[in-house]
Amino acid sequence: MSTTTDPNLTSWIESANEAGCDFPIQNLPFGLFSRTGVDIRCIGIAIGDQVLDCRALVETGRLEGHCSSEACQALGSHRLNEFLALGRSEWRAVRERVSALLRSDMPDLKDDPNHREACLVPQSEVVLHLPMEIGDYTDFYASLHHATNVGSMFRPDNPLLPNWKNLPVGYHGRASSVVVSGTPLTRPCGQTVSADGDETSFGPVRLLDYELEVTFVVGPGNQMGRRIPIEDAREHLFGVMLMNDWSARDVQKWEYQPLGPFNAKNFCTTLSPWIVTLDALEPFMVDGPPRSEGDPSNLDYLTWADDFGVDLNLTVEIASAGMREQGMAPTLVSRGNYADMYWTMSQMLAHHTSTGCPMNPGDIFASGTVSGDAEDSRGCLLERTWRGQNPITLGDGTERKFLQDGDEVLITGWCEREGAVRIGFGECSGVVMPAREQVTA
Ligand code: MN
Repeated sequence: MSTTTDPNLTSWIESANEAGCDFPIQNLPFGLFSRTGVDIRCIGIAIGDQVLDCRALVETGRLEGHCSSEACQALGSHRLNEFLALGRSEWRAVRERVSALLRSDMPDLKDDPNHREACLVPQSEVVLHLPMEIGDYTDFYASLHHATNVGSMFRPDNPLLPNWKNLPVGYHGRASSVVVSGTPLTRPCGQTVSADGDETSFGPVRLLDYELEVTFVVGPGNQMGRRIPIEDAREHLFGVMLMNDWSARDVQKWEYQPLGPFNAKNFCTTLSPWIVTLDALEPFMVDGPPRSEGDPSNLDYLTWADDFGVDLNLTVEIASAGMREQGMAPTLVSRGNYADMYWTMSQMLAHHTSTGCPMNPGDIFASGTVSGDAEDSRGCLLERTWRGQNPITLGDGTERKFLQDGDEVLITGWCEREGAVRIGFGECSGVVMPAREQVTA
C-alpha cells in the first residue's frame, strides 16, 4: 500500500479525522472552487471540511523542491485540464507532497498562520464548479444487469444483443450539457408517440428518470491514429466522479432505433464536484470484471491480467419538494456497487481508442447505469419500478413511477473495507424544475 493511503495517517485538520468524513487525508480529491462573492476559479483539494487552495500552495512556495515547475504552473490555472495533461508521475508527486503537508506529524503549514490562512478555505465559504473543461463525453452501457433488464423491457424475446458481451457498448454524449452538482434541471420537452404508435406529439416529457453512474476523467490523451493499449490505462485515467445521467424514457423509446440515444440524453448530465484519484482508490481495487461460464473470452486488446474493478458503494435517494420543506430525510431508492460492472474503465478506454480515436485531458467516460442483481440495486426508475408497473413510495407517502417536478435526486458514493480508511465522493444532486414551454434562446 502506498504511503498516502496508509490507514495510520491522520491530519492536523481535525475534521478530516472524524469517522464517516468523506475527505480524510487518504482521499485528497481535486476540484475547482471560487470563494463566495469572488469570481476567480482555483484548483482545490478537499480535506475534512476545508479546501486546500492549490494556487496559494504554489505562491507560498510550499511545493517547491517537491513538484515540477510544470506542475506548479498547472496548479495555478483556472481549470484542471493542464494538470490532467501532465500524467501520473506528476499527479503522484503533488499528492505525496500535499499528504505530507497535511499530516499530524508535519506541522509546518499549521504553525504558519499567514500561509495557513492563505491556503485553507472552509467548504462552507466556497462555490464548487466543474473541475475541468470537458471536450468530449462518452456514455457506456457496462452493467450486465442494467442491459439485460432494459433489453427485456424493450425487446422481451431478445434482451441482450450478440455484441454486448464482446465489446463495451457506448454512445457519444453531449459535453455541452454536463453540469456540476446542485445545478437545477429543467424538465425538457420532446417528441413522443402514443401507445398505439399512431400519433406523435411534442411537450414536456412525462417519463423523466435518473441514471446512477460513475464516470472516469481522462488525463493524457492519445494522438489521432494511435491507440491506448489496455495495460497503459493507469497512465491515462486520473480519477472517478459520481454522475446522474438524466434521461427522458418516453423520448428514448420513440427515438432510439436505429442509432441509439439522442435527445433523451442530451439535456442535462450532473457530475459530483470532486474527482477521487485512482491513487486514492488503490486500497479498494478488486479483481477484474466478473465473467460466467460460457461468456465469450475477450479479444487480446481488451485483456489485461492486472485489470481491476473498484469496490465503490453507491446510493440514490429522492426527496420531494414537500419532504424538503418539512425537513424530512430523503428516501433511499437504490443501492449499488461499481464492482458489479461487466466492463472495466481500462477496457472502455482501450476499446474507445482502438480505432485511433483521440482522447484529450478532461474527457469523461461514464459507465452507464450501475445496476446489481437485487431489485433495490437497480440504478434507475425505469428498472426500479419496472417501467412504472411497481411504483415506489417516498417518505411523504407519495408514489413515484418516474420523477415529478420539485423532486431532488441525490447520489452518494463511498469506499470502505477492513484495513483502510473510508473515503467518500461527496454529493451529486439536482432538483427537477418545471418545463419551460416558451421557446427562447
Ligand atoms: Mn446513461
